[in-house]
Amino acid sequence: MSDCIFCKIAAREIGSTVVYEDEEFLAFRDINPVAPTHVLLIPKKHVSSLLEVPEQDAPLMGRMLTLAAKLAGQLGLAEDGFRVVINTGKNGGQTVEHLHFHLLGGRALQWPPG
Ligand code: AMP
Repeated sequence: MSDCIFCKIAAREIGSTVVYEDEEFLAFRDINPVAPTHVLLIPKKHVSSLLEVPEQDAPLMGRMLTLAAKLAGQLGLAEDGFRVVINTGKNGGQTVEHLHFHLLGGRALQWPPG
């Protein structure tokens, strides 16, 4: 989508610190990290939120989830643990309308999240 900041990051029209890329996905460092490791994983294809994932993209979502685990390992988070978060909508705290997983680790995270 032309006015989507994450589409622009995926198209390399806006700079980011990329930690992983393949044909389907991009992972980059969050500009405002809330944990020592805070990476965003996005599908390159624009989907505005988890609520808008079409049924036929279930395999893509499965690959995204297994990729999140693989990246957590590569980022050194597997041993101590980490969190994958999908903020969705107003009450979920979603601010960017392009589906993204937050991959958070490097410190003990609180629960409930507040
Ligand atoms: P959410 O609030 O769940 O929609 O998450 C959006 C995230 O995108 C926030 O954690 C922001 O810090 C992050 N963010 C916004 N703009 C950028 C950017 N240009 N590069 C990296 N991260 C960004």
